[in-house]
Amino acid sequence: MRLEHTMKHKETNDQTIDFNKAKIVSSYRDITNNISENNDIVSRLTRRLQTTLDCEDIIEMFAGEVKTLVTFDQMTHSASNQDTIKIGDKAGTHSCQYNLSMDETDLGSLTFSRKQRFIEEELCIIEKLASTLVFPLRNAKLYQQALKAALRDELTDFGNKRALAASLHREAELSIRHDSPLSIVMLDIDHFKAINDCYGHLAGDSILKDLAATIKKCARQSDLCFRYGGEEFLLILDNTDKQQALFVAERIRKTVAEYSYLYNGKIIPVTISLGTATFNQKETLESLQTRADEALYCAKNQGRNVVVSSELKNNITSIESLQIG
Ligand code: GH3
Ligand code: MG
Ligand code: MG
Repeated sequence: MRLEHTMKHKETNDQTIDFNKAKIVSSYRDITNNISENNDIVSRLTRRLQTTLDCEDIIEMFAGEVKTLVTFDQMTHSASNQDTIKIGDKAGTHSCQYNLSMDETDLGSLTFSRKQRFIEEELCIIEKLASTLVFPLRNAKLYQQALKAALRDELTDFGNKRALAASLHREAELSIRHDSPLSIVMLDIDHFKAINDCYGHLAGDSILKDLAATIKKCARQSDLCFRYGGEEFLLILDNTDKQQALFVAERIRKTVAEYSYLYNGKIIPVTISLGTATFNQKETLESLQTRADEALYCAKNQGRNVVVSSELKNNITSIESLQIG
């Protein structure tokens, strides 16, 4: 495997050194000694970094080891799809930056800063230690990607059934802790089998993708969307009571019914049926999902393209339909 490890050093005077091109020949005996004396630090760090796949842990361990050799006020690690990890509160006026990458994979950039200028031998030490980060960071990134993929539905980019279980559990706990309302919406495409039979499975797939985009547009940013079955979707609406859930569900129903789903130049009419259920803190999550499912079943029975809600109060479930389309 090819290792493309580019590191740049940028002092505040805007000088940039590309460590791939620069020849780093240390003329300082004490540093050479220092580095060889501290080779055990490098191998210890390498071993330690292999013990975790958590990027934050990796960066914290790394910063701890660097600090034993080079003082700094702040170290940050910035990478795409990740919040910047900051070690130390206050950035200094002098900084040096290392951009880490392996093959085509960007592994982010490390920035050290402090009040005094960094000297050449310190940069040598940082560079040597930084090289130990490349494989652990690459592995952590691949692991995070695999975890994400395991929780997402590839076609729609919604969470899958496994992700749904974890999210619903977390949202229910928050709802109980803050005593805030929580609702779910289950929806299912009407006569989807007939759509597949009539226009083909590729058209069906295209509709699933477009429908997911429509749902996302109708939902708030904080609403969580999942594809939990073939043509079945579930939304978790935090801070949402029965009336608000009905409102959101009706907005989705109407938008889908009015939207022109196009495949190979043909407009395919699509409608959905929806069931909402509002969480009662005394019930289980299984009961909540069963009630939403029952409401959805009821919507299908009422002729489809309908929203039906379920509410559990004083151990009594009440079902209410909003509109017959
Ligand atoms: P209803 O209105 O009662 O929901 O009728 P329906 O035809 O939608 O329901 P049914 O459960 O009979 O059929 C669901 C269909 O969804 C059958 C299956 O082939 C199709 N389906 C499930 N997953 C996918 C998928 O990923 N892609 C495509 N194209 N079709 C799918
Ligand atoms: Mg269906
Ligand atoms: Mg179905």
